[in-house]
This record gives sequence, C-alpha cells and structure tokens, in this order.
Amino acid sequence: MSELRPETRAVHVPQPPIEGSRPISVPIYQTSGFTFDDPAVMAESMGRPDGAYVYGRYSNPTVRSLELAVAGLEGGAHGIATGSGMGAINVVLFGLLKPGDHLVAQRSLYGGTAAMINELVARFGITVTYVPENDPAALRAAVRPETRLVYLETISNPMTLVADLPAMCEVARDLGILSVVDNTFATPLLCRPIEHGADIVVHSTTKYLSGHTDVVGGVVVLSGRELYDELWHFAIELGASPDPFASWLTLRGMQTLALRMRRHCDNAHHLATRLAEHPAVTAVHWPGLATHPSHELAGKLLPGGFGGVFSFDLAGGRAAGEKFMSSVRVALLAPSLGGVETLVLHPASTSHRSLAPEELRRSGIGEGTVRVAAGIEHPDDLWADLSQALA
Ligand SMILES: *Cc1c(COP(=O)(O)O)cnc(C)c1O
Repeated sequence: MSELRPETRAVHVPQPPIEGSRPISVPIYQTSGFTFDDPAVMAESMGRPDGAYVYGRYSNPTVRSLELAVAGLEGGAHGIATGSGMGAINVVLFGLLKPGDHLVAQRSLYGGTAAMINELVARFGITVTYVPENDPAALRAAVRPETRLVYLETISNPMTLVADLPAMCEVARDLGILSVVDNTFATPLLCRPIEHGADIVVHSTTKYLSGHTDVVGGVVVLSGRELYDELWHFAIELGASPDPFASWLTLRGMQTLALRMRRHCDNAHHLATRLAEHPAVTAVHWPGLATHPSHELAGKLLPGGFGGVFSFDLAGGRAAGEKFMSSVRVALLAPSLGGVETLVLHPASTSHRSLAPEELRRSGIGEGTVRVAAGIEHPDDLWADLSQALA
C-alpha cells in the first residue's frame, strides 16, 4: 500500500484480521456491503440466504446474530429480522398470500395488523374470516379450499385474551393451512408457539425483546427450512431488512430478557391484584387472575408467568380514564409496551380510536378502560403512583 497516494490510502483503511481471540460482545457490522476475493463466490452467494455476506439488504453478520438468537429462543429453524414488527407481519402476509386467497384471523388483533388485513381485503382481492382465538370448531368451519393461513396472537391487546394455540394449530395442520402466531406479548420466555404446533412466529422486537424503549424492529421465525427460503427471497425484495445498529441494540436487550420478564410479570401481578380490590375499579383484565376468561388456559400455555400487560375498567368511564392519564407521575402516558418503564394508555381515545363503537364493545374495551404495561420499577413505587392517580 505504501506506493499509493494519500487520497487513496485515506479511502482504503487497514482492517487487520482478529486472530487468536474473539470479541465477547457481538460487533456492529456497520457496512452496507461486502467485498470478495473470488468473483465466483460472490455470484454464487447472491441467490441464497446461507451464502457469503453480499449486501446489507440481504444479510449482515450483526443482523444474522439477532436472527439466530430469536430463532434459537423460539425453537425455530431460521429467522428473518425486519425494520419493525409490522415489517415482519407484512413479510408473512404479503409473502404468502396472493389474490383470491382466504385467511382466518382471530377477532382481537393488534391494531396495525387489523388495519393491514383491511388493506389486503380492500385492495388485493384477499378475503378474511374472523373467529374467536380459542374456538377450534369455528376455525374448522371457516376454512375453505382457498384458505392459506390462520393468524393468531398468543396474548391479545389490551384484553389479554390467550389464544388456544395447541387446539387452533392442530386444526390448521389437519387442514393443511399454515399457522402464524404473533408472540410479542408473551416472548419466548413465557411461550414458544412452535412447540404448540405453529409454523411461523412473528415479533415486534420493539417491545420486550429489545426492552429499553430505544429501538423499533421485528423478526419472523420459521419452523422449517422451506418456508425460510421462500420468505427470505421475498423479504429482500420487499426491502424489510433492519439496520445493524438497531439489531445490536435488540441483541443487547435480549441478554437480560429473562430477568426483565420475571419482574414485568411480578409487577403486573402486584398491581393487578391491588387494582381488583380498589373501589374505583370495576374489572381487571390479566390472565393471572382467576376471574379472567383465559386464566385456566394461561396456566398451561404461560407456565413462566402471565405477562406484563393488563388493563382495567374505571367506574367513572371516559372522564375517569382521562383524569387518570393526566394524574400518573411515575408511569408514563405513552403508546408501546415491553420497555423498562411502566406505560399507561387509554385505548378508546388512542390505540383503538379507529374502531367503531360497536367493534370497541365487541372487543371488550370500554370508555373507562386503561391499559398498563408494567415496567421493572419497584412495585411499591408503582402502586403508590397508581393509587394516588385513582384518588
Ligand atoms: C407493537 C406490536 C406490533 C407492531 O410492531 P412495530 O414494531 O410497532 O411495527 C405487532 N404486534 C404486536 C402484538 C405489537 O404489540
């Protein structure tokens, strides 16, 4: 290199190989592309997911590390990381459905997913049937020759209904359709849908997996190699891939997932049981409570804990809900969930505002319903905050 001029040497920075040791933390490979010694290796790597790294939209070592980490936790064969949870969901929906196809989805869906399914129906000639998340007979009755997949969520938002994954996935398998499960609320620490028969798991890693309210991302986990090859090609054409730094933040957060989930679940338990006894509260919705419709199923499907999200209904309706939102001091009024901070939200005026009053009622959300995503703060500080906001 010594014969090169300074202008050229400034561009071509030395990259000494690391020999005899390895970094402990996953490095951030902040590069958009990779260079090759052998043009044949480059050509051969472009068309398959497990070739040499070629281009950032196709794959990147930091991103691959995240894909392997989530797939490993979920018990899947492979993962595809994406720039958001909706990116992961759309890789699956657009990657598998074509005009004329039919899908069956559970009635209570994450708002963004529900909106996307409405788009598929309105603009792409796809039809949908909604069934309860725990009714395998209704699923069986809804399936037609053109049904391609069933779409479920382990724990729904904000009423925390638990899907009967073993029964629903068994019907899907029996009828030859794919089952897709959004496992964002449960995380693989509480539930691994593939063990219950799911073919595909999707995550918004924005939530518990990254856990620190500092990154947006998603992952698709495939139970088998064939589905991976099919969707990998589609994902790179769609341009859904994440940034290496976002993937690194997610990986770092995931190292403490088990500790955080324990605390999220304990704090939810602490707050939900106290709220259930409060005179201003008419109902608390958390699968850990014996009064919850999913309690028995949750005991089987979520042996590691009932999750960190719950909701409750205020006797005073909308006015009480709005007053509560502006009275919390430790908990923050914010969308999203799964981070270390406790967040509160009034679904009727925010996340579920697009639902018609009739749809809102059907999903169990009242004018005075408040959603709480329990963080990892001290439980006594959280209860002191919520109870002063109720006073
Ligand atoms: C947040 C969320 C999504 C969407 O994820 P983004 O990262 O916001 O795109 C999908 N499903 C569930 C259950 C979520 O909570």
